[in-house]
Amino acid sequence: MKHSYFTFGFLIFLSACGPAVQPCPEDSGIVPEIVREGLEPTSPEATEIYEPVPAKVTPGAPATGFRSAPSDAIVLFDGTNLDAWHMAQDSTAAKWTLNGDGSMTVANRTGNIQTKENFGSIQLHLEWASPEEIIGENQSRSNSGVFIQQRYEVQILDNNDNPTYVNGQVGALYKQKVPLAMASAPSGEWNAYDIVFHAPEFNEKGQKTASGTLTVFHNGVLIQDHVTIEGIIQYIGWPTNEAHGNAPIALQDHGDNSRVRFRNIWLRKLD
Ligand code: MG
Repeated sequence: MKHSYFTFGFLIFLSACGPAVQPCPEDSGIVPEIVREGLEPTSPEATEIYEPVPAKVTPGAPATGFRSAPSDAIVLFDGTNLDAWHMAQDSTAAKWTLNGDGSMTVANRTGNIQTKENFGSIQLHLEWASPEEIIGENQSRSNSGVFIQQRYEVQILDNNDNPTYVNGQVGALYKQKVPLAMASAPSGEWNAYDIVFHAPEFNEKGQKTASGTLTVFHNGVLIQDHVTIEGIIQYIGWPTNEAHGNAPIALQDHGDNSRVRFRNIWLRKLD
């Protein structure tokens, strides 16, 4: 079943201070929680959006090689080892495949990997490539993703001639923000993401006092323009807003032989 923006209905703003009958004082500093009208969705399809489809933008031609990390960056992956990462589920050594060409590849069905270090607001650079040999379609064609603070996924997907729901397409803040454009390199070639993420803030009561924000450039094309992060992404249902602090950056093993490669991953702390 296809859905449009209007499937979500109107958003109404209610207090995060408690039930709707107890609005936040205007000077409380608490961000009103977005509460969507209607019943909580109970299937993945209920939160998929298909129209309008973002315009395709052909990125500029790739340069030879790449520019490595700046002097004040934390290098998360330079092609030599996986030391900054471990398995998300049990913190054992990262099982993904270290290639001999400066890249690593998702090892299918091993699980997500995530950084050993926790991060707050960041500037993040990473490069990824879907394989030239195409297997699967829709969400099962080279699906991976970068989960900032383990909770906010910027989608990685081979969307070349492979339509899917637009709030789950390449560059989407998954099921929250449709990208402004689709700027993928051809399958098999390297893509770059440059991400600016400002973490949400919560007070001692667990109430949100500042929403997170996200900006993403895909191959130099702005695809997320300082968007407000509504909450923690959910595969089924509306975003949620449990309080959390700094957390790892995770890379997704979607479990369907994505064969996505990564290289040149670094970040700069912004807080
Ligand atoms: Mg994904």
